[in-house]
Amino acid sequence: MIGKMKAAQISKAAGDWEVVERDVPEPGPAHVRVKVEACGICHSDVLVKEGLWPGLQYPRVPGHEVAGRIDKIGAGVATWSEGQRVGVGWHGGHCFSCTPCRRGDFAMCVNRKVTGVDFDGGYAEYLIAPSAALAVIPEELPAEEAGPFMCAGVTVYNALRHSGARAGDVVAVHGIGGLGHLGVQYARCMGFKTIAIGRGRDREPLATKLGAHHYIDSATSDAGAELQRLGGADVILATAPNAEAISALVPGLSVDGRLLVPAAPAEPLSVNVMPLIMGRRSLAGWYSGTARDSQDTLEFSVLSGVHPMIEKLPLDRVSEAYERMHSGKARFRVVLTMGM
Ligand SMILES: [Zn+2]
Ligand SMILES: [Zn+2]
Repeated sequence: MIGKMKAAQISKAAGDWEVVERDVPEPGPAHVRVKVEACGICHSDVLVKEGLWPGLQYPRVPGHEVAGRIDKIGAGVATWSEGQRVGVGWHGGHCFSCTPCRRGDFAMCVNRKVTGVDFDGGYAEYLIAPSAALAVIPEELPAEEAGPFMCAGVTVYNALRHSGARAGDVVAVHGIGGLGHLGVQYARCMGFKTIAIGRGRDREPLATKLGAHHYIDSATSDAGAELQRLGGADVILATAPNAEAISALVPGLSVDGRLLVPAAPAEPLSVNVMPLIMGRRSLAGWYSGTARDSQDTLEFSVLSGVHPMIEKLPLDRVSEAYERMHSGKARFRVVLTMGM
């Protein structure tokens, strides 16, 4: 007797949301079944909705900010147990045998899978996940807060902790949105002199509340010059995917400063290279992290009191929830809940 579950799927590129009934799937070897409690809506879900990911197969259930409980264990899974609270994020598993994997760099696996893109994700009551993609959720953390940490959270937390910045260094977070509102909190909790950069003054009170020591309005001032006035940024984390605005930040870097870009703008960056050369400055991308990085993010968030700002909507209202994210109206993460 196979049970049924509700899932929200996209069945063709640029198709509409369909809430459908499916058979509850069975976990194969090295996989587990997760009973989903909450799933955040990430801007990258646009890749599935609009068919922008190469080789994407439909129908597809998106969702890579999953929080729930292990409900069934597949063959050969020895270190996880039924009932355990787990998260599943962007990193949907790796092959263990390619060159980066053999070097232990699982995030760079050439055969890596993305949850909700290469296999069905968390916009559903159940999903099947590789055991290598699981993070333990600390008891203190509610599911609707754990979800957004599995992509937005780990991306900025992992970027900052690998940025080379040390306590007291100047770290600027550009953009106060889904990623940036977490980036400001992490930067403050990691002991950096934290500067938030936004367009206009309306995000300033919030940025201050989240822990920013300074706020720069990029609409009315030259953000690069303002950063130099504050000592020059050792690290700038550019979370607002706006090519022109990101390019304009380069002159704000200190000597050896790094501009990290974890979210892709649609347009190419246009950067004057002289400031890079003269100050040994660099510009780099940042790629999310593994399941263990996500677990570190969850644990650090509990330890230091970092919280995502969320709006909850039930799975049935997926169209409305997605639209709130896509239009930029959400403050700041919309989380689908599965009615428990
Ligand atoms: Zn994401
Ligand atoms: Zn690999």
